[in-house]
Amino acid sequence: MSTFLDKLKMAGESVKAIATNVIHGEEVMVEPKVSESRLKICEECPELTNLGAMKMCKQCGCTMQAKVKFDGMRCPLGKW
Ligand code: SF4
Repeated sequence: MSTFLDKLKMAGESVKAIATNVIHGEEVMVEPKVSESRLKICEECPELTNLGAMKMCKQCGCTMQAKVKFDGMRCPLGKW
């Protein structure tokens, strides 16, 4: 299980990856088929927690319905 500081660091890296894409004029969002494929992997992962309608990853603390849509985002366990 990641510590709070680990999660904070991962969140910072995610924001940095998105900002880098924006600065370089690159795509920020992935194709819907990519985000759907990522979310399907998460839904089969024991690290996913369902909090009502929100699906949160216990490893990174991210809301997966949002995270899977951004280019440059990565699964902390390397599953996608
Ligand atoms: S991001 Fe990775 S570790 Fe987290 S729920 Fe998805 S597959 Fe599992």
